[in-house]
Amino acid sequence: MTTTPAGLAIPATVPASALADAEQCDVLVVGFGISGGCAALEAARAGARVVLLERAAVHGGTSSMSGGHFYLGGGTAVQRATGHEDSVEAMIAYLEASTKAPDKEKIRAYAESSVEHFDWLESLGFEFERSYFPGKAVIQPGTEGLMFTGNEKVWPYRDEIPPAPRGHKVPVPGDTEGTRIVMDLLRDRVLEAGVDVRFETGATNLCVDEDGDVVGLAWRSFERTGLIRSDAVVIAAGGFVMNADMVARYTPALGEKLFTLGSTYDDGLGIRLGESVGAALEHMEEPFITAPFYPPSSLVKGLIVNQEGKRFVAEDSYHARTSHQVLQQPGATAYLIADSAHMEEQRMPLVPLKDGYETIEEMEEGLGLPAGSLTATMARYNEYAARGEDPDLHKHPDWLAPQTEGPWGSTTSRSASRSTPASPSAAWPPTSTDGYAAPTAR
Ligand SMILES: Cc1cc2nc3c(=O)[nH]c(=O)nc-3n(C[C@H](O)[C@H](O)[C@H](O)COP(=O)(O)OP(=O)(O)OC[C@H]3O[C@@H](n4cnc5c(N)ncnc54)[C@H](O)[C@@H]3O)c2cc1C
Repeated sequence: MTTTPAGLAIPATVPASALADAEQCDVLVVGFGISGGCAALEAARAGARVVLLERAAVHGGTSSMSGGHFYLGGGTAVQRATGHEDSVEAMIAYLEASTKAPDKEKIRAYAESSVEHFDWLESLGFEFERSYFPGKAVIQPGTEGLMFTGNEKVWPYRDEIPPAPRGHKVPVPGDTEGTRIVMDLLRDRVLEAGVDVRFETGATNLCVDEDGDVVGLAWRSFERTGLIRSDAVVIAAGGFVMNADMVARYTPALGEKLFTLGSTYDDGLGIRLGESVGAALEHMEEPFITAPFYPPSSLVKGLIVNQEGKRFVAEDSYHARTSHQVLQQPGATAYLIADSAHMEEQRMPLVPLKDGYETIEEMEEGLGLPAGSLTATMARYNEYAARGEDPDLHKHPDWLAPQTEGPWGSTTSRSASRSTPASPSAAWPPTSTDGYAAPTAR
């Protein structure tokens, strides 16, 4: 619909004097993804007159594409029903320990409100299943309500903080679009609460008064334009992964990926609207990039080596942590190696099976690794794994098993080469170090 300058252009601001005859509301929300939908609903329930602008013809944005994991803890109903102890303090400790430059105030607020958020989500009109998925997967394959999704059981966190599963999945089987049910319910509740929702209407510029305060905005819907006055403007307009210039500036690694996941209007306009009134940008250089090699979870018992034939990451790490580490390796390439007792059918298409090898020496040569490197790495791994130990990277004993039964197979995780970001893909989990822009926790 609207054609808004993409690239790095920062929209001009509109002076407050232009608002003389403009319509007015108490709270003006930009974007009907999950953030904007929740903000609009709570503002309307608190008695505000709310206008919610959405550039697309439907609600949902990237939120509707998402798999349906909500990271919640501190003793939710699903955690209690499935016998998993958790506390607000443990959740805070884990999030602080695993986040680069943690915002402690935000993390505390998030953890302290987590049970309330869980209840609030269910009050929209659905229930998380009171069940637990014990396996290692990117997301529960079925409708199980809870699983470990992060690095809680990964060293060093597991030694310092009691691990608890916090990945709550909506009751929708499969990997993608689970959150759509939440977005549809949110739309129903938003309309019931009397929010004035305007689709195909994009915010184009912010209005500021002489003190620099935001007092409204300009919008466009096809050929029509207009202004709305409001002292409370909430911008929840999504990310920037579809804007090649912003990707090149902030997260160049994403520009080289085969698949970029996001929705059409992830062009960073909301961020640039913020910049237009002097907002400082944070964490722009932290994309979410992943290339999960599991399921099958038996592969987690294998070992991952770089092009020097050396291990560099505990294989039981959260898939995006592993992928981030792969990107730091020579040639941004790594090989997962498993023996025939653990090499089950490969299900992750962009971490493909490279080949099978009768001997470790043959594999070393076939993968082009330095002579003797893989042989030495595997001998050490196998020796300690047999005793349930991993002195180098501290993989959890549950995932340690000697890889001694030939033949051996190897999958490849490689940074794909491409000069521009591709069009949106509905595939989830993201594949072969693809990504969508989102804050990362490591
Ligand atoms: C395939 C996939 C799977 C994912 N799975 C998970 C998961 O399981 N768990 C998890 O926590 N996260 C997941 N994520 C990440 C998550 O989806 C996003 O972080 C989240 O949806 C962002 O929500 P949002 O409300 O900020 O943005 P969005 O949902 O993108 O909403 C922004 C809205 O603003 C609109 N908009 C943009 N510009 C304007 C404008 N100028 N005026 C008016 N409207 C505008 C857009 O059209 C859009 O509707 C996944 C992401 C992908 C791509």
